[in-house]
Amino acid sequence: MQWLKELDRFFIEEGFEFLRDVPLAPYTTIKIGGPAKRAIFPRSKEELIKTLDFLIERQIPHYVIGGGSNLLVADSGFFGVVLILTKMKGFKIITEDGQTLVMRVLSGTKINEIIAGARKLGYGGFEFLAGVPATLGGAIRMNAGAFGITTSAFVRKVEIYEGNAVKEIIPSDHDWTYRSFKVPGIIISAELALPKTDEREIQRRLRDFWERRRRTQPVAERTFGSTFKNPPCCYAGALIEEVGLKGFRIGNAKISEKHANFIVNLGEARAQDVLELIYLAKTKVYERFQIFLEPEVKFLGIDNERLCN
Ligand SMILES: Cc1cc2nc3c(=O)[nH]c(=O)nc-3n(C[C@H](O)[C@H](O)[C@H](O)COP(=O)(O)OP(=O)(O)OC[C@H]3O[C@@H](n4cnc5c(N)ncnc54)[C@H](O)[C@@H]3O)c2cc1C
Repeated sequence: MQWLKELDRFFIEEGFEFLRDVPLAPYTTIKIGGPAKRAIFPRSKEELIKTLDFLIERQIPHYVIGGGSNLLVADSGFFGVVLILTKMKGFKIITEDGQTLVMRVLSGTKINEIIAGARKLGYGGFEFLAGVPATLGGAIRMNAGAFGITTSAFVRKVEIYEGNAVKEIIPSDHDWTYRSFKVPGIIISAELALPKTDEREIQRRLRDFWERRRRTQPVAERTFGSTFKNPPCCYAGALIEEVGLKGFRIGNAKISEKHANFIVNLGEARAQDVLELIYLAKTKVYERFQIFLEPEVKFLGIDNERLCN
């Protein structure tokens, strides 16, 4: 294929790190998914932009992966290029006035690294996502939230690649919704504003939030977090439990006994098993309650029309 040859030549000439025909399962937390034609691991903003310019100019299909913690990849994989951003990480301090720490963070930085970096300087904020294997880019795109707090609360500016250009936006309230940041494009970095927080308070929150997570979620198992968004009326997990699917298994995928909105890979589960479970839960909940469950998890290489309607 001509475009693959051209792409390989480009990566080699630029000295970019990439892999051919790479299985994507290891890059997701549920450990499921077939190969992508190419995976590239940009280490800087410049590498990311150069790669995107190349892919977009040639209309090569591509997809961005952060921590892969809310992602289901098809068993057949993805016929295109994945950009895995976990090597594009780090932050620098913009201002610190004793009340608020403003830092510029690259989007591939893990949430735990942000928590640790801010904590050393006496600032908090992201403890609600402690232990969640997400990157900042993924947390912004999904407006990740827990315990009544969302990522949106700490984001001041977002640097985005969209339509061959880099722009910086100051998000307004309208740009954020439940589990989504609506401004399109690939997030390169963001400016976060984090409040001064007493070390004992940070410790208390980390302990408290983690304990609540551990008690209610299958944190030690292979999952992609919540399968469905909560509908306005109630919790998706409670509805799935009501229709008797807690612990239900298809192949090696199972609806968690601990939390029915989580699907667990028991080992070598296929994406197809997970999709059947998602479809079953959606159908049963609709039949019983006339409530549509909308997937929170994102799909790659999967025709998700059946799951989203
Ligand atoms: C154990 C566990 C616990 C979890 N707990 C929570 C929780 O409490 N609250 C919650 O909201 N979620 C939770 N999740 C789900 C998940 O962690 C979040 O949705 C998280 O925000 C995804 O981040 P990520 O970097 O892993 O993104 P990925 O899974 O890699 O990607 C998710 C989506 O974001 C896009 N994306 C990723 N990076 C970028 C970027 N730089 N620019 C543009 N788009 C991008 C991807 O293309 C994809 O569409 C949990 C998951 C696990 C496994």
